[in-house]
Amino acid sequence: MDRTEKLNTLTANALLDKLNQREISCDNILSALNERISQVDPKVKAYVRTGTVPFKTTDDLALRGQSPLPLTGIPISIKDNICTEGNNTECCSKILEGFKPPYDATVISKLKKSGVHIFETKLNMDEFAFGSSTENSCFGATHNPWDLECVPGGSSGGSAAAVAADEAIWALGSDTGGSIRQPASFCGVVGLKPTYGRVSRYGLIAFASSLDQIGTLTKDVRDCALLMNIISGHDPYDSTSVDAPVPDYSQSLTGDIKGIKVGVPKEYFVKGMDAEVKTIVEEAIKKLETLGVRQSQVSLPHTEYAVPVYYILATAEASSNLARFDGVQYGLRKKSGGDNAMIGMYKKTRGEGFGEETKRRILLGTFALSHGYYDAYYLRALKVRTLIKQDFDRVFADFDCIVTPTSPTPAFKIGERAQDPLSMYLSDIYTISVNLAGIPAISIPCGFTKKGLPVGLQILARPFSEEAILRVAHAYEQATEWHKMRPNL
Ligand code: GLN
Repeated sequence: MDRTEKLNTLTANALLDKLNQREISCDNILSALNERISQVDPKVKAYVRTGTVPFKTTDDLALRGQSPLPLTGIPISIKDNICTEGNNTECCSKILEGFKPPYDATVISKLKKSGVHIFETKLNMDEFAFGSSTENSCFGATHNPWDLECVPGGSSGGSAAAVAADEAIWALGSDTGGSIRQPASFCGVVGLKPTYGRVSRYGLIAFASSLDQIGTLTKDVRDCALLMNIISGHDPYDSTSVDAPVPDYSQSLTGDIKGIKVGVPKEYFVKGMDAEVKTIVEEAIKKLETLGVRQSQVSLPHTEYAVPVYYILATAEASSNLARFDGVQYGLRKKSGGDNAMIGMYKKTRGEGFGEETKRRILLGTFALSHGYYDAYYLRALKVRTLIKQDFDRVFADFDCIVTPTSPTPAFKIGERAQDPLSMYLSDIYTISVNLAGIPAISIPCGFTKKGLPVGLQILARPFSEEAILRVAHAYEQATEWHKMRPNL
């Protein structure tokens, strides 16, 4: 092994080659990661509860070849809302303090069956995944590795920042309205939200069940394909997971994208978007053209309704999903005296256990579902959701992919939008239609602003066409150097 090469900076695919050649052991990788985490995590704060849970190394030092499992020795880091048996999973909320799930999420079981080493210490996120900046965590904000004064995006900000800062080889996140893609774009890494139903949600603590999907944050597209091969597929424990064959996603990385038809929606290039982001994304689209794709302008006319529709449906679902956190079954329980001690206990537990944004979501969602308002808000929003889905169906009748910016701006400063929920919600404008339509989308690095902040290109495709996305993303990545850039920490 080249001793100067830091193992924590390599992709999972590169590490697998070294493990297969028996140049390194699993423990070498974990030591490199631990060293990096102790160096940079005090600044980045991507991991949570680091004081209480040590970063365990394996005792089986397994050199590959001794293990029959294909990925033995590769570690992965996990967002704090994906259940890992016997190991704190708190959604970065006080109300789940000390919660240790009695079972693994299906994605975790699948990873373990492939030999992947699950990091005990979890990654930071907005409480219950409510947010676009990771500022809503009960553990405090994560910092963007490219500019420590900026947010890493959210809600999977810990996942994106850890991968960008080489504190994780790769990571899992969840995406209900952009929570993988927007932080991937803010941190200059690759983030994929799979088709709704492609990956099991069993063991993902629910935010909005009709929108949630677990997905990947990786250093390149090849790792994304590898991780998707492991986590995808039908699961009898999740009735919304689809029983369709899982292709070998790595096979789709052919490098050839000649003749692929790509639509560029005019509604995604509007006044108010950052001028640098616009130029950088337009350059990326030109680059795709030089690689052989045929691009034309298309229209997704209902785009302007995506933010209001999403914030009605997502909060309605969240308010009912969060009803289970009552101090009885999980986590925090606050005692209350008096005549009605039980009601008092509920009130105190929920009042003190939930953060401000979570309470706002529960209130908004409960309002939208309440008698007399249901038809005006929830039902109407469902109808407009169908119109948004139909916009995509129309475009995908003629086009293989759609390309857009991932976010209208690069990473913003910590604190800048914290007091203004509406401006925070508006930063999701380009990502949430994808969840409403249930289609897959990726964000890949496509350039940097003058201040050195990464910009992401979003690529969308028909349901279950992750292969088309990966093929285009990989060809672009092969022709550019953006994914190789690393922050100077
Ligand atoms: N930013 C969006 C929200 O706050 C998306 C969150 C997510 O995808 N989990 O709801």
